Amino acid sequence: MTIQIQQNDEQHQNLSIVIGKKILEVQDLHVTFQTYGGEVHAVRGVTFDLHEGETLAIVGESGCGKSVTSNAIMGLISQPPGKISNGRIFFKGKDLTKLDKKAARKIQGVDISMIFQDPMTALNPTLTIGEQLTDGLRTHRSISKAEADKKAIEMLNLVGISNPRERLKQYPHQFSGGMRQRIVIAIALICDPILLIADEPTTALDVTIQAQILELFEEIQIKTGVSIILITHDLGVVAKIADRIAVMYAGKIIEIGTKREIFYTPTHPYTKGLLNSVPRLDLAEEELEPIEGTPPDLFAPPKGCAFAARCPYVMEVCDYVQPGTTYLTTSHYTDCWLQDERAKGLFND
Ligand code: SF4
Repeated sequence: MTIQIQQNDEQHQNLSIVIGKKILEVQDLHVTFQTYGGEVHAVRGVTFDLHEGETLAIVGESGCGKSVTSNAIMGLISQPPGKISNGRIFFKGKDLTKLDKKAARKIQGVDISMIFQDPMTALNPTLTIGEQLTDGLRTHRSISKAEADKKAIEMLNLVGISNPRERLKQYPHQFSGGMRQRIVIAIALICDPILLIADEPTTALDVTIQAQILELFEEIQIKTGVSIILITHDLGVVAKIADRIAVMYAGKIIEIGTKREIFYTPTHPYTKGLLNSVPRLDLAEEELEPIEGTPPDLFAPPKGCAFAARCPYVMEVCDYVQPGTTYLTTSHYTDCWLQDERAKGLFND
């Protein structure tokens, strides 16, 4: 998918104007995994927040920690081999890392819901769509079957499935890939979540269906006010629906800002590299510049900046000391020595 941002996209022009109340605060999150090869530091000090009705896209290459971060918010890293080794995740003021299992279950899966990339594996082929839609609802709320069916029909209408009453009796194989993803979205929304985490929700779909599903996310957000964390490696998807963008590299957020700040005034060399390596309407194919090299080994993360081995602007300090966070605007932050006043005079000519 090519990137296209409309210059007059007023909805997204100045998202330093806060959209709503803060609902999620992730503070200095560290996640490790024990493996036969040793301990992997998959997430290394991630901090960000999210507001009511906002869409935050978390982008980066495979293995950068974006899915692990969202799994931690969803409570999917509560037992070995994974461990939240440090940090806090506040959701509506409650620290999810400190809740017991029963209290966490009332939030994770109800107020926070998640959809995964492959609609084929997310649905159970042996159960009807109606059974799968109402299962979570009846588990978390004491309502009758008739009430649950009514809500299921409402949800199928919301995601654009026609003849919902008849469709409830059908099985997943009776739906196309795009419709199955709509059903997965309906299941995720049926308990009226406050936060929806979508992990690569369009990757398994063809381009036309991708566009329809992205439009559906926008419609749903307008109708329900749900906040969305979108995990993706696809900057075309980000350009379409994100309000803010967090760029992750080697387990850290290295730059975060509004969509316009990241697309028009990126500062971190990795963000610039990402933007230069994907097709754009204003760039010829031969002008694309893939980022050379590979991310560092997270069994033994580098002492200094994790991007140093691939960075065209690397300085001596980068190899030895991790850059701190520089605040460029109230909404745009970056972790790079090039933006840090303290490194002035060290820049290469
Ligand atoms: Fe490059 Fe240094 Fe900035 Fe890292 S801190 S991205 S190595 S200039």
